[in-house]
Amino acid sequence: MSTSPVLLLVDDSGSRRVDPHEPHLSVTDWGVTRGDGIFESISVIAGRMPALDARFDRLEASARALDLPLPDRSIWTDALRKAIDAHEPVDRLAVTVVMTRGVEGADGSPTAWLLARPARDFTDIRRSGVSVVTLDRGYASDAAEGSPWLLLGAKHLSYATNAAALREASRRDADDVIFTSTDGLALEGPTSSLVVRRGDLIESPAVEAGILAGTTQATAFGFFESRGYRTRFSAIAAAELVECDAIWLVSSVRQAVAVHTLDSHPMPVDHTLTADLNRWLGDEARLE
Ligand code: PLP
Repeated sequence: MSTSPVLLLVDDSGSRRVDPHEPHLSVTDWGVTRGDGIFESISVIAGRMPALDARFDRLEASARALDLPLPDRSIWTDALRKAIDAHEPVDRLAVTVVMTRGVEGADGSPTAWLLARPARDFTDIRRSGVSVVTLDRGYASDAAEGSPWLLLGAKHLSYATNAAALREASRRDADDVIFTSTDGLALEGPTSSLVVRRGDLIESPAVEAGILAGTTQATAFGFFESRGYRTRFSAIAAAELVECDAIWLVSSVRQAVAVHTLDSHPMPVDHTLTADLNRWLGDEARLE
């Protein structure tokens, strides 16, 4: 059992465990020099293999968007199983799966790895919620269709702009961000999907607006449907967010956090519903 992170290098023939404290990445890897690659974050709760189909579907969609080879699902599933077995038992593991375009001037094969380490504890923030600012992402909501090279909706490694948006939020004394389009729609967070409640209707922005297809958002819709809410994807005007009965940012590892303040306006928070949603998300992540 390993008490340090478990790292596996992955190629066409399978995966092999390596020492995470040794160097494995070339300084001329396209993933390093250009952020040219894709990734996924997977939450492993209580050592149980999570359901992976939605995750692989998105990894494949990201690979297609970047013209990278499609990941071999059986090799990656096997690598994840090996990592879970090798890591010391912890409540939650955060697993990152990465595939880059490979090393400049080499044979063109991707560089790929899987890293498993204990997840940060988000218990408190799930209870307290977050303050959020809306920030203009600078693209119209139809940019994904007209300019596919922007890679909107692909989970690629170039997250420097997302990190910059979070620093801007911090400068404005907020915890997180909801991006908006230049035509005034609410989109997603830098690392999360947006879910809102208006009465008995639960809504999320449609992926056509150039956002990531959230796996947690999909599971959250299942929760709300089980509670009798209607769910739908829709164009949500940023200006209407403040009138919503509830806003959540949802993602795999942090799960659901309620937005208690939006652009300095206090927002209603249903702590019981948020706790129930988080219990459901945790249970779903334990499937298999
Ligand atoms: N949107 C963005 C931009 C993200 O980076 C993430 C997660 O990292 C999400 C949405 C939420 O996706 P998921 O629920 O599959 O973790």
